[in-house]
Amino acid sequence: MRFETKAIHVGRGIDPLTGAVTSPLHLSTTYERAADGSYTNDFMYSRGDNPNRRALEACLTSLESGFDCVTYASGMAAISSIIEALPQDLPRRVVMPDDMYFGIRALISETDIGKRFDIAIADMTNLAEVEKVIQDAPTGLVWMETPSNPLVKIVDIKAITKIAQKAEAYTVVDNTWPTPALQRPLSYGVDFSLHSVTKYIGGHSDLMVGAIVAKSDSIYLKNLRAWQHEKGAVPSPFDCWLALRGVQSLSPRMRVHCANALELAEFLEAHPKVEAVHYPGLASHAGHAIAAKQMSSFGGMLSFQVKGGEKEAMEVAANVKIFTRATSLGGTHSLIEHRASVEKDKTMAPANLLRVSVGIENIEDLKEDLSQALE
Ligand SMILES: *Cc1c(COP(=O)(O)O)cnc(C)c1O
Repeated sequence: MRFETKAIHVGRGIDPLTGAVTSPLHLSTTYERAADGSYTNDFMYSRGDNPNRRALEACLTSLESGFDCVTYASGMAAISSIIEALPQDLPRRVVMPDDMYFGIRALISETDIGKRFDIAIADMTNLAEVEKVIQDAPTGLVWMETPSNPLVKIVDIKAITKIAQKAEAYTVVDNTWPTPALQRPLSYGVDFSLHSVTKYIGGHSDLMVGAIVAKSDSIYLKNLRAWQHEKGAVPSPFDCWLALRGVQSLSPRMRVHCANALELAEFLEAHPKVEAVHYPGLASHAGHAIAAKQMSSFGGMLSFQVKGGEKEAMEVAANVKIFTRATSLGGTHSLIEHRASVEKDKTMAPANLLRVSVGIENIEDLKEDLSQALE
């Protein structure tokens, strides 16, 4: 099966009991044992495994062409698990990009993860710098996020994976923004593809799930499963059910997200009140050539800088009518957000920057809305 077909068919089938075409939702926390004590249906207790979670994990494994998938209560639960679950014999050192999801920076500064692990930061668009930072000290895990948040930087997955492999470090890509519909890190030799399923895979801003898809079997993968099962950071069956519903339309949704984002980026780039547009689909973007190589299209996220400062950017956000001022991304509806005022003193975002999650509304409505907001 090809990608779009797998998104619809893997993990789902006709319910043998009722003939229902849509998978039933299994809320039961516990499963009956047979008279001889065995579990005839494979399930025992919902934290360990349940039908809706298993179905979602099967589908995501298949979409990333991986070996297995472990899902969590949120993207951040997946992120903290993959750091904590580093196998015992590996160096407790993680190399991370300078531009990355804000929640990870908060995880490092607000919890003891930042103290128990040596977190080294590198500008991952600079391969010489990445090589130097990785070779500075024995490294357990190399982190990539591309396109990055909020500056939409592009990182060369293949090149960095090679550098990491030479140093015998594991690699992970936060693949939330492109989704497996546009980018398959495992095909470049990356060990783990990580997701906030909350975003595009769920697709409708109504669930929280995280996922890690592994390229192959390992002690690391066994640890990740134990972190899910034993530490209990599990997604609910309902959220898994919603995610498996959302993922069916991932491909067609991404096509519209990408087309709308490109058109909006071109519109903004030509606008006299816009200072800069960050979108890898633009020929002017520093990472355009690498993005064109490793992504099948350029995604639905962009950011732009309004001429002036924070006040001018906040005014644009204040005047939108169809866009919603809200954080998060990946839903059908367009969102706009002033990142610097959300992230406060830890921010990497310029004061005049607005981040946009371009939805799948009619593009003319989106352009008209930003056009009047910029007036
Ligand atoms: C939202 C997001 C996360 C965190 O996911 P949650 O589901 O909110 O915990 C991680 N990485 C990226 C790129 C994100 O956009």
